[in-house]
Amino acid sequence: MTKKIFVSIITICAVSVIAAIVLVTAFMYDKSVETAEKEVKTQAHIISSAVERLGEFFLESTDFGDDIRVTWIDRRGQVVFDTEEAPEALENHSDRKEISEAFEKGEGSSSRYSKTIMQKTINYAVRLNDYSVIRVSSVHISLEAQLLDVLKPMLLILAVVVVFSVLAATRVSRNIVRPINNIDLAHPDTKNSYKELAPLLEKLRSQNNKVSRQMDEIQSSREQFGLMTESMDEGLIITDPKLNVLTCNTSAKKLLGAGTFTEGQSIYALNNSEVFRICLMNALGGRRSECILRTGGGQREVIASPANSIDMVCGLVVFIMDVTEKQELETMRREFTSNVSHELKTPLTTIYGISDMLANGMVKQEDVAQFGGNIRSEAERLINLINDIVSLSKLDEDSAPRENESVELYSLAEEVLGRLKLSAEEKGVNTELTGEKVSLIGSRTILGEILYNLCDNAIKYNVSGGSLSVKISHIPQRAIITVSDTGMGIPQQHIGRIFERFYRVDKSRSRKIKGTGLGLSIVKHGVMYHNGTVRVDSEAGKGTVFTVELPIEKKQ
Ligand code: ADP
Repeated sequence: MTKKIFVSIITICAVSVIAAIVLVTAFMYDKSVETAEKEVKTQAHIISSAVERLGEFFLESTDFGDDIRVTWIDRRGQVVFDTEEAPEALENHSDRKEISEAFEKGEGSSSRYSKTIMQKTINYAVRLNDYSVIRVSSVHISLEAQLLDVLKPMLLILAVVVVFSVLAATRVSRNIVRPINNIDLAHPDTKNSYKELAPLLEKLRSQNNKVSRQMDEIQSSREQFGLMTESMDEGLIITDPKLNVLTCNTSAKKLLGAGTFTEGQSIYALNNSEVFRICLMNALGGRRSECILRTGGGQREVIASPANSIDMVCGLVVFIMDVTEKQELETMRREFTSNVSHELKTPLTTIYGISDMLANGMVKQEDVAQFGGNIRSEAERLINLINDIVSLSKLDEDSAPRENESVELYSLAEEVLGRLKLSAEEKGVNTELTGEKVSLIGSRTILGEILYNLCDNAIKYNVSGGSLSVKISHIPQRAIITVSDTGMGIPQQHIGRIFERFYRVDKSRSRKIKGTGLGLSIVKHGVMYHNGTVRVDSEAGKGTVFTVELPIEKKQ
């Protein structure tokens, strides 16, 4: 800007000076021509009246000097006298403009311009009484010649003006630009500045306010977005088309098992597995893509969606969910289905085989009763299995009756032991119930199933002459059921798995002891239903103790 102002000032000065010189010269030239014409006319009149009186004698005896040329032309146009050349050498002048005008009107004038000598000749002719003509000519330099004459001083003046204007322009341009340079863009001062700058500063101030308002809005929506994404359990990553991370919440880092990671890095710094890369590449190709990753000891479902803007992918939105539990449940469901089918098939095959033999008369009369007993015991096994599956599926689906009644555990245990009295006697197991009356809010049916399964196991896996002891007690806010037996116990390595569905410690041993492998699963889910805990302490060959703790207050 300074340079532009500087150049403009110098140009204006130079052009003004040149124009002024040219115009003044032209004006002066005009004036001088006018004066010269007047002079020539006056002289022509003086000389012609002198010739009128004195004749040729005047012309020959007078020195006219170098400035003017005097010519006398007779009435035929023939030159009879000339101050510069011999009259005989000169041609007839009657066709000259000033001469022909003088012949006609008494006076005539003309001027001729010669480019080669850059001179202007001014002629004035006056007719005498004898019809001869006196012509006076004067030579005047042309305008161009005059301009050339003033060229030298003009250049000198121009040089002086340029030097002066350089100094002035430097100062002026600096003075003009200084207040603009001194403007504080962040805090424009509209009061203490040039009034010409006021609209600009006002605009700047309102723009600053607008920008700052918009920045505040952006900041607050960023914070809001950050808070929302940070509170998510799911991972969320947003990337640019080069897969550099723009936003990444803490859950995403945790789920992908990334250590230190800062936004702006490549998404591959979070996870570099091939599955992940392929999934992201597919999404960059414009298609929503999904994959399962195994990281941080769990399974993660990744959904990558392209963010499109006018036919091109301008980034990715990657959503990560922890599906470990979902996958485990899916595996359990598959295993459960196959176990159920297997467990149902075994007794049914036996029933089918025996009944087929009976139908074909292949069984001796005396064995019929024994075969019938086998069918009944397999059918009983089937019924028990189906009952257990029904109980478990009810607990699984959380569709167990939500009874919130007051249940007194001591009398419930008494009732359960009564139902198991026969099997305890058959096995030769002594049963005892100790403790106190403890009531809690819960489901009588489910609590009955918990007690039944624990006591049934304590009898089944006991030894002849062994004992089963049930104790009902409480600590503040919690009821405690302890079921101890002096049976065969559970080897340490199996303890962690006995609550799994269809898990039986020793398949060959268990085959002799009736069971579905679902009893303790029902116990576990029943306890969970009541927000309680179950613990097992056992020693192989010595016995087992199951301790169930349940909150007394109403189930939430
Ligand atoms: P089951 O129908 O086989 O009894 P459970 O789920 O009730 O199935 O028990 C799982 C396994 O845990 C049993 O097969 C058994 O091996 C073991 N078990 C359970 N309770 C006892 C116990 N009181 N003493 C010894 N082993 C037990």
